Amino acid sequence: MIRLSGRLSGLEESATLAITAKAKALAAEGRDIIGLGAGEPDFDTPENIKNAAIKAIRDGQTKYTPVGGINELKDAVAGKFKRDNNLAYSRDEIIVSCGGKHSIYNLFQAILDPGDEVVIPSPYWLSYPVMAALGGGVPRIIPTEESAGFKMSVEAFRENITPRTKAVVINSPSNPTGAAYTFEELKRLAQAALENNVLIISDEIYEKLTYDGFKASSIASTSEEARRNSVVLNGVSKTYSMTGWRIGYAAGPKEIVKAMTSIQSQSTSNPTSISQWAAVEAISGPQDSLAVMVGEFEKRRNAMVEALNSIEGVSAFKPLGAFYVFANISGLLGGRSKGREIKGSADFAACLLDEAGVAVVPGGPFGDDRYIRLSYATSMKNVVEGVRRIREAAGRLG
Ligand code: GLU
Repeated sequence: MIRLSGRLSGLEESATLAITAKAKALAAEGRDIIGLGAGEPDFDTPENIKNAAIKAIRDGQTKYTPVGGINELKDAVAGKFKRDNNLAYSRDEIIVSCGGKHSIYNLFQAILDPGDEVVIPSPYWLSYPVMAALGGGVPRIIPTEESAGFKMSVEAFRENITPRTKAVVINSPSNPTGAAYTFEELKRLAQAALENNVLIISDEIYEKLTYDGFKASSIASTSEEARRNSVVLNGVSKTYSMTGWRIGYAAGPKEIVKAMTSIQSQSTSNPTSISQWAAVEAISGPQDSLAVMVGEFEKRRNAMVEALNSIEGVSAFKPLGAFYVFANISGLLGGRSKGREIKGSADFAACLLDEAGVAVVPGGPFGDDRYIRLSYATSMKNVVEGVRRIREAAGRLG
C-alpha cells in the first residue's frame, strides 16, 4: 500500500459536496430525497449566458487562453468592481480561476509559509481552514456568537493577532450563517488589519444575494489602504446560477496575483475558454434575471426561517444574505431515534437523511456542532416539504 502524503493527515472530503453527492445517489436509486445540502441555485443559467457560450464554441474559442484569463473577462471583472464596489483594478491585479474555490486555494498557496496564521471567524465555510492548512498555514479560529449576529468583533480580532498572523478571512454575507457586516464594521476590521500588517482576504461570492434591502459592502472599499492590502474574491457561480461552469476571480496586489498565476500555470492552466466567454456575458450583459432569483430566495428564506422556528428544540437565525439557514438544534441533542443517539449535528443530519429523506449539512464541519445548515436555493415546494419532514423527525426523537 502506498502511504499518502503527511500533508493530507486528517483531510476529509468536503461535507457540502459529499452530502450532496449522497443525496443525488439515493435519489437516483429511487428514494424520495429533498436536497437542502449544497449551495447551488436551482435556477437555470440565463439564456443570454448560454448563448454566449454557444457562440464562443462556434467562433472557435476552444483553445488555451492566457493562464489568468482572457483580457475581455479581466476587463469585465474590472468594470464590475468599479461599478459595484468603486474599486479600481488593472488587468495585472486580476486573475480568473476555475471557480472561486480555486482562487482561494491558489491564494493560500501563494502567501503562506509553514506556521503562518490565518484568522478565520467561526462559523466559517468549511473549506477555508482546510485550504489554509494545505498551504502550510495554521487556522486561528475565532468563535462568534449567534447573539452577536455571528460577527467577529474588532476586539476579538485584535486579541487574536500574533506575530505570525498573515491574513484574515472575511466572508460577508457569510456561508453558513448569512450574517453580513455593515460598512462601518468592515472599516474597523480593516483598520485593525492595516495596523498589524495582516492581509485581508475578502470572499464576496454572496455579494449580490442579500435581503431586506441590505446592500453588501466590500471591505476593500473602506479606504485606499484597505484596497491595497486586500485580495477580493468573487465569481459567477452563485450570482448567475453557473456553478458547473467553474469561473471565479480574485483582485489584489500585483505580486500576489502574479504568484497565483504562476501556481495556476503549473497546475490547471487557464479556466475553460468557453466558460470565460459565458462569464463575460454574465458580468457585462443584462442583469434582470438576478433580481428575479433574489426575490425568490427572499420568499424561501422567510418561509424556511419561520417554519424552523416553530419546531420545538430548533431555532433559526435569520440570514441577511447568501442562501443558507444555520439552525440551532441544541434542543434536540441527546434524543434518540431508532436506537441511534443524537449526540451531535452529524447524527442528526444522518437521521434526517436515513429516516426522513432530507439532506442537510451538519454544522460541525462549519465550526459549530450545535447547528445544521439548510440551503434554500431550492424550490419553495422543497423548502416547505423539507422542513415538514424535519419537524416530523424532531417530533419522533425520544
Ligand atoms: N460553496 C457551496 C456550499 O457551501 C458549494 C459547495 C462547496 O464547494 O462547498 O454548499
